[in-house]
Amino acid sequence: MTNRRSFIRKAGLGALATGILPGLNFGIKAQAETQPGPGFPLIVSTWNHGLAANEAAWKALSEGLSVLDAVEYGVRVSEADPGVSSVGYGGYPDAEGNVTLDACIMGPDGRAGSVTYLKEIMHAVSVARLVMEKTPHVILSGDGAQKFAVQQGFTKTNLLTDGMRHEWEQWKASGARYAPHGNWENHDTIGLLAMDAMGDLAGACTTSGMAFKHPGRVGDSPIIGAGLFVDNEIGAASATGEGEAILKTLGSFLVVENMRHGMGPQEACEAALRRLMEKVKVHDQMQIGYIALHKSGVVGAYSLRPGFQYAVHSPDGPSLLDAPYILEW
Ligand code: ASP
Repeated sequence: MTNRRSFIRKAGLGALATGILPGLNFGIKAQAETQPGPGFPLIVSTWNHGLAANEAAWKALSEGLSVLDAVEYGVRVSEADPGVSSVGYGGYPDAEGNVTLDACIMGPDGRAGSVTYLKEIMHAVSVARLVMEKTPHVILSGDGAQKFAVQQGFTKTNLLTDGMRHEWEQWKASGARYAPHGNWENHDTIGLLAMDAMGDLAGACTTSGMAFKHPGRVGDSPIIGAGLFVDNEIGAASATGEGEAILKTLGSFLVVENMRHGMGPQEACEAALRRLMEKVKVHDQMQIGYIALHKSGVVGAYSLRPGFQYAVHSPDGPSLLDAPYILEW
């Protein structure tokens, strides 16, 4: 097993050999890539609620838990927080008033698990992990996912808070209809990527999806390669924003592939967004954000439009950063 010191040295040489030095790529409005300092662990996640999730993930790593535990325990914080209106308990419901969750997890050994359209179970990411560990499958969906969760000892719980019920009732009363482009109140999925002290990578992604979405709608977040991808040799990536566009370009996989071909993490995120702009019709309310964690211990992010923030936790402590972006609103 590579020890930490030799890993850092090897990763540094790799970065030099492939020309991916942090801060070399400046796109429109780009800032230098986040440099975590000389050490790992390193955690990066989407949006400002990522700060609390990162803290839990950091604590898990500090206590000697695995990198997979860290990403799971990290995003569970957002799932349990009714103040986070886009994940787990307290998330926006679908058009029929049901909160339905999408989540996935992927580890350093390439294993992955996922649940889609899961109702009444708060910790979708933990069910996804058990799909990975206890079944030969990758994805369980809907009633089958819920049945599996209950068999595994999860308790059914009402995920619709009074506040969200009120918002949904108002939405219905306003005569609003399901419209993917108009239901963009909810855009704060948590994707969290972690690297442990040995340089091993894992990621998790969990969401209640788009506000008032069509019943049965599944976004990018639980789809391996779209909402999340981890390749322990190369790096990891996660996505947030309009899932339909991310799905059509397999965004997170593309970010990791871009890193495989020599790009730094920020450049890889930007290139994936530029590909999306070529392949998908970009409407004026569309927002997409990517985060990436390169195997060399460098973090990057990019978004289609301003406003996307990402949280980093390194040995230097926590920080919340504005991602560079391509288009103005
Ligand atoms: N990507 C999520 C979805 O489309 C939403 C989000 O990230 O805000 O379900």
